[in-house]
Amino acid sequence: MLLSKSLWRLYLFLLILSIWLYCVITLKAVDTIKQGAVDDLTFVHQQLEHNASNHLTQLSAILKVLGHRISDIGLDDMKAVRETIERIISDNPAFSAYGLSTPDGNMILNSLGQDNQALPNLRENPYTRETYLKTLAAREVVLGRTYYYPPMNEFIIPLRFAIRDQAGNPIAVVSATISADSKYNPWHLPTLPPDYNISITNNSTIDNKYYSQYVYPPISKPEDKEQLYYTVPYPNHIIDQIKQRIARAAGTDFQTFMESGRSVSYLVHEEWEDADFLEVISYNDEFEFFTAISVRNILLTQSINLMVITYFVPLLLFNIILFFVLRYIDDIQKRSKKLLAHQALHDQLTQLPNRYYLDLHLTGWLNQVKAGYTVIFLDMDNFKVINDSYGHKMGDAILQVLGKRLQNHNPENTLVIRQGGDEFIFLIPDDNLHFIKQFAETVVGRLRHPININGINFSLSGSIGIAISTQHTDQLGDLLRKADLAMYEAKKERNRYAFFSDHLQQISDERSRIEDGLRYAVDNDEMHMVYQPQIETATGEIFGVESLIRWQHPAMGMVPPDKFVSVAESSSQINMIGEFVIDATLREISEVQSTHKTSFHISINVSVMQLHTSDFRRIINIKAREYGIAPSSITLEITESLFIDDLEQIRHVLMQLKRDGFKISLDDFGTGYSSLSVLNKLPIDEVKIDKSFIRDIEKDEKDLLFVESLVGIIHSLDIPSLAEGVENMSQAVALRICNCDLLQGFYFAKPMPKQELVSYLSSFTAYDIDKDSLINSQNRIPSRH
Ligand code: C2E
Ligand code: CA
Ligand code: CA
Repeated sequence: MLLSKSLWRLYLFLLILSIWLYCVITLKAVDTIKQGAVDDLTFVHQQLEHNASNHLTQLSAILKVLGHRISDIGLDDMKAVRETIERIISDNPAFSAYGLSTPDGNMILNSLGQDNQALPNLRENPYTRETYLKTLAAREVVLGRTYYYPPMNEFIIPLRFAIRDQAGNPIAVVSATISADSKYNPWHLPTLPPDYNISITNNSTIDNKYYSQYVYPPISKPEDKEQLYYTVPYPNHIIDQIKQRIARAAGTDFQTFMESGRSVSYLVHEEWEDADFLEVISYNDEFEFFTAISVRNILLTQSINLMVITYFVPLLLFNIILFFVLRYIDDIQKRSKKLLAHQALHDQLTQLPNRYYLDLHLTGWLNQVKAGYTVIFLDMDNFKVINDSYGHKMGDAILQVLGKRLQNHNPENTLVIRQGGDEFIFLIPDDNLHFIKQFAETVVGRLRHPININGINFSLSGSIGIAISTQHTDQLGDLLRKADLAMYEAKKERNRYAFFSDHLQQISDERSRIEDGLRYAVDNDEMHMVYQPQIETATGEIFGVESLIRWQHPAMGMVPPDKFVSVAESSSQINMIGEFVIDATLREISEVQSTHKTSFHISINVSVMQLHTSDFRRIINIKAREYGIAPSSITLEITESLFIDDLEQIRHVLMQLKRDGFKISLDDFGTGYSSLSVLNKLPIDEVKIDKSFIRDIEKDEKDLLFVESLVGIIHSLDIPSLAEGVENMSQAVALRICNCDLLQGFYFAKPMPKQELVSYLSSFTAYDIDKDSLINSQNRIPSRH
C-alpha cells in the first residue's frame, strides 16, 4: 500500500473535490468562451443585418418613388418613363440594371439595350416566377431571388415594385438589380472576420419555398454548381430540421421566432462539411429573408481544449503534489508509529526486545523452529551490589554493554529478551543437549569477561537456568518457569548454569505444597517449639537453650525447618511464623524458668526478612515484657548469608535491638561470603561456628587448626564463640582446645519439647570436658602420616 487507509480516504476525497472544482471551473470557463464566441458572432450578425436592412430600405424607397413617378407619367409615354428611370437609377450606383415589365412578365423596357422580346418572361422564368407573382400581389418592394442572368452574365439580386392604376391593379412591374458580386450587395460586409460564413435565405415566395439568396464565401466553381445552388429550393426535410433547431434555440415555435425579429444562436453539425458550426440567425420580416452567420466551431473547440488542458495541468500538479505530501505525512506517521511500536516492544536501556515483544512474536518465532527449542534464563549475580555501590547510572551503563554482548555470537534466530532488571531470556531454536551445554558455557564465559566503564573494571557473573522443550506443544510459560527454577538452582553456587530436571520439579512442587500448608499451620496448631541446650565449655554447665521450630503436617508428616523456613521467607509467611516463634518460646521458657526458679539464656532464630518489618522490634519487646524475660537474656540468631545486600539497613535495626538490650548472634558463621567483614560492621555478641567445621574436627587436624584460628579471630574482636553440631565427647574436647566458649549439639542433647526440657533440667549434672583427657587418649586426632 502506498498510503495508509485513512490517508487514502483523505486523498480520494481531495481528488474528487479537486476534480469537481476543476469541472465546475472548466464548465464555467467553457461557458464564458462560448458566450464570448456567441457575442462576437451576434455582433457581426447585427452589423450585417442592420447594413442589409438599411441598404434594402433605401433602395426600396428609391424604387417606390420611381414606381410612383412612372404611374404619374403613365405607360403611354415610354420615352419619359425611360428618362425618369434612367435618371433615378443612374443616380444610384448600387443598381446594375433595370427593367419594366407587364404584369404578364413581358419586358417592355430594359437597360441592357436588348430586344425586349428576346429577354425571358419574368412570369415564366422559373427563377423569377415566384417572387414576380409575389410582387404583383404586394404593395411594397419585393426582394427577388438571386439568379444567374445570362444577358448580364452575372448573378443578380432583383428588387421589384408593382406599379398600380387608380383602382390598385398592377399595370407594370419595375425591377432594379444589384450585382451579387459587387460591393453594393446588401450583405457585403468589408469588416467580416475571416472564417465567418454568411448565408442569406429568401422566403419571399408565394409557395413558401426557401432559396439561397446569398452566400459568403462564394460557392466554389464550377459555375453551374453555383447556379444550381441558387436555383433549387432547400429540401423540405432540411428546412424542417432548421426550423426545429431554431425553435429549440429560441424556446418558442418557429412562427413566433419569425415575427419576433430577434436572433438566436446554436451549435450545428453540418453534414456536408462534417464539422460543427456556431450559428446566429434572424429573420427579416420586411424583405422576407433569413440572415445566418456562422463560424466553424473548430476555433471554439480549440480554445476550449486549450483551456481544459491549461486547467488540467494545475489539477494534475495539485493531485501529484497532494499525493506526495500525503505520502510524506504517511511516512512520518508510519515511522513514528513504528518507533512507538518499537519503544513499546523494546527495552529502552538495552534496546533488546522485551516481554511484550515475546508475547507478540512468539508464534511467528515458533513457526521458524523446526524441532524443539530451548529457553535460557539468565540472572546476574549480585547485581544489586553494583547499583548500591556505584549508583544506578553505572548499573545502567553496565547493562547496556551487557545487552550488546548478549546479543552477539548467538545461534541463528536466537531471540534475546530483557526480562527486566538484570534478567535476560534466550530463546534458541535448537534442542540438542550437547549444543545447548556448549552454548551455556560460552555465555558464562562471555559474562565473566570484564566490563570497563569510566576506567573501572567490573567482573560480573550470572546464573543460568535452562529448559529444553520436549514437545513442540510445550508452552513458553511452562518452559520459562522451568528455566527460572533451574536458574535458582544455579544461583545456589552462582556463576554457572543448571538444567531443569524432574528433581527440581519435585522440589518446586514440594515448595508449593509447603507454601500451601504454611497458610494454616499456625492456626491449626501444627507448629511447636523444641529447645536444645547450650553448654559452657569451661564449666560444663547450662548456658542457655536455642529454640527451634517444628512443624507436624497432617499429610506431609514432620516437615524440617530447613525446608519450610526458606519457603516462608520467600512468601513472607515468615512474619506470622516468626511471631509464633517469639510468643511460644518466651511463654514456654518463662514457664520452665518459673517452675525451676533458674534463669538461662534463650536463643531465638530470626530470619533477616523479619528484621525488615517495623513490627518485629515492637513485638519482641512487648513479648519479653509480657513474659517477664529480660532482653539481656535473649539472643537473636541471624544468618549472615541472606543480608549481605542490605548490610546498612540491617546494621541500623540491629543497633536498635542492641539498645533495647537484646544480644545478637551470628549463626552459621563461615558459610557465607563476607563473614569476617560482617563481624566488624555489625554489633555482634556471639558467633556460632557452623556445624560443617565441627563434623571432622576430632579427626582432621586441618579442621582443628582452622577452627582454632577462627575462634582466635573472633576472640580478637572480643566476641564469644559457640560451636554447634557437637556430636561426641572428642569434638567437645577438641573445641575446648580451640578455646571455644560455648557448645551445642546432639552430644549434650537433641532439641526437645518443653516438657522434656523440664525433666532434662531437673536431672542435669555438669559435663566434664577435660582437655587433658583428649591429649591422653591417643590418636583421637588422626595424624596425616
Ligand atoms: P540452625 O539455626 O543452624 O539450627 C541448628 C540446627 O542444627 C537445628 O536443625 C538442630 O536440630 C541441628 N543440630 C543440633 N545439634 C546437632 C548435631 O549435633 N548434629 C547435627 N547434625 N545437627 C544438629 P533444625 O532444627 O532442623 O533447624 C534447621 C534450621 O532451620 C536452623 O538452623 C535454622 O536456620 C532454621 N530454624 C529452625 N527453627 C527456626 C525458627 O524458629 N526460626 C527461624 N527463622 N529459623 C529456624
Ligand atoms: Ca540457630
Ligand atoms: Ca546454625
